Amino acid sequence: MTNEPSFKNCMCQNRGGGIINWRTVNDTNFNLPQILGETEQLKAGSLFECSICKQAWFLDKNRSVMYFVPDYKMPLIEKWNAGPQTISTESLKILNKIGAISYNDFFGSFRSLNIPCKVTTIKNEIIDKAIISIQDFPPLDSMQKHIRFASEISQISRSEYALPYRLRIKTTKVRERRMAYYPSPVKARFWQRFNLNGPTNFIDFRGIKGKNIRSSFFFSENSITLGDNSDQITYFITDLNAEIMSTFGL
Ligand SMILES: [Zn+2]
Repeated sequence: MTNEPSFKNCMCQNRGGGIINWRTVNDTNFNLPQILGETEQLKAGSLFECSICKQAWFLDKNRSVMYFVPDYKMPLIEKWNAGPQTISTESLKILNKIGAISYNDFFGSFRSLNIPCKVTTIKNEIIDKAIISIQDFPPLDSMQKHIRFASEISQISRSEYALPYRLRIKTTKVRERRMAYYPSPVKARFWQRFNLNGPTNFIDFRGIKGKNIRSSFFFSENSITLGDNSDQITYFITDLNAEIMSTFGL
């Protein structure tokens, strides 16, 4: 037996969900500002390390939220940090027409702009369910299962699988009906009715694509429930910059 702190019992990791409100951290009894030390400034925000268990943490550029960094994310953070991730003015115009949805972090600060589209990469791969994620933040979101970078993009166009903008907005504003169920009723053609559960970007269901989906006011418990399948979505991480802020009115 050893008294060496293990992965699970280090006090840095006993904080709920791996997310720490760094603005109020001094009000707690965990001495986290003493044990988490800044190791590297990144192009936005900083990496920290726990002096006890050596666990990596990330503090956002506003120095307001500290995020647990799983080991497997470190190579992605290095890649993201290695240079700017930008897209062309031409592509930005297309993305603006498709329509961006803005997400905030747990404390209400800007987190990312997401735009669903079709991407052709510089290696000529065609990705029908791509999300351009404009963020001032490394790729740490656990929803982002497949991560690429803006520097890999050759061309951007509309995706047939993407939901129209007004329906994407609708899926972000719906109230919880029962636990973890946020249904937006929609329909395809004349009779097929669905409930989209929570924020949804793409539909690909038995030949029905996002572009075929229309709004509906008729909620039914019997409708088929659909939602984003994050396994099928590839995120292209793009830096927030002055041109993007003026394009999207941020
Ligand atoms: Zn620790």
